[in-house]
Amino acid sequence: MTQLTPQPGIMDIALYQGGAAHVKGVSNVVKLSSNENPFGPSPRAIDALATAAPEMHRYPSTDHAELRAAIGDVHGLDPARIICGVGSDEVLQFVVQAYAGPGDEVIHTEHGFSMYPILARMAGAVPVSVPEKNRCVDVDAILAAFTEKTRVVFLTNPGNPTSTMLPEAEVERLAAALPGNVILVLDAAYAEFTEGFDGGACHVEGRENVIMTRTFSKIYGLGGLRVGWGYGPQAMIDVLNRVRQPFNLSVPALAAAEAAVRDQDYVLHCRQENAKWGRWLAEELAEAGVPSDPSSTNFLLARFGSKAAAEACDTYLQSQGLIVRKVAGYGLPEALRITIGDEESCRRVAAAVKEFKEGRA
Ligand SMILES: *Cc1c(COP(=O)(O)O)cnc(C)c1O
Repeated sequence: MTQLTPQPGIMDIALYQGGAAHVKGVSNVVKLSSNENPFGPSPRAIDALATAAPEMHRYPSTDHAELRAAIGDVHGLDPARIICGVGSDEVLQFVVQAYAGPGDEVIHTEHGFSMYPILARMAGAVPVSVPEKNRCVDVDAILAAFTEKTRVVFLTNPGNPTSTMLPEAEVERLAAALPGNVILVLDAAYAEFTEGFDGGACHVEGRENVIMTRTFSKIYGLGGLRVGWGYGPQAMIDVLNRVRQPFNLSVPALAAAEAAVRDQDYVLHCRQENAKWGRWLAEELAEAGVPSDPSSTNFLLARFGSKAAAEACDTYLQSQGLIVRKVAGYGLPEALRITIGDEESCRRVAAAVKEFKEGRA
């Protein structure tokens, strides 16, 4: 054979579909399809980025010591056990790359984040989808899917696109039941939207096979910057650092993320606005006959009863300049995932859904 052939699994990857950002011929468009922070980044992060700009000719630090120290301070975690990546996606990739290979199995749940099967296939491993129960993670179903080939279990908590939270006791039951040679990844991309929630850090403590991942892309409003982090046992972090490129995070990214994590007043403000307008929007939609589960995140999973109704409402919302996310690809064809925007956006969404439901669309 003289033909180029990619590694096994690579051509089985379906390219990731990002949220749309434009509607042809419609102005005053608001993007509510990628769970971005409607208020943008902290002004301190913007300042830090500008201050760092003239230093772009210098290579960044390889160990991210200052950013890890800041994260450790704010969260009360040991900085030595933190690893930073190009988004938390990269940290998730490190885990699969370092611990799973051809023929191994990587478990994710039915409505789990679509990056998990992509990452599994990148490593030549086999993604295994496990059913959820009424859009909530089902620990017994995960345990039932176990084989001796299982290497990694991905748990998004709270879930995306479900917005539901698995209770602490259930996370603990899962963590305790896993054999020592299987990694449990607690993907806590939306942890900051729940006051007092540690993202699952407590389940990492005292275990060798549990890691929590976090991101600057959601409440910190830095999705365009690409910074995330993980917190795990020292031995696992030491392994992951070996598959991490030394200069994975840029000088401006490190500076802006550090300033962002130190600005917890801004995080608090964003959390409160999100909670207030998320509650309001959920009530408005429910009144219009569109229920959603209580959200622990910055989005609602609005249920329209049928695929046809969800698609028709999506089309109407688009005509009104409101871009939300269809989630048929996540096994939820009857629903739309709507990012909780600022007050004006929430009011526009509520009004448009009401118009749609009342047949005025
Ligand atoms: C947004 C999101 C991430 C974070 O992605 P980044 O790479 O940090 O931007 C991870 N997991 C889930 C479930 C998400 O929704």
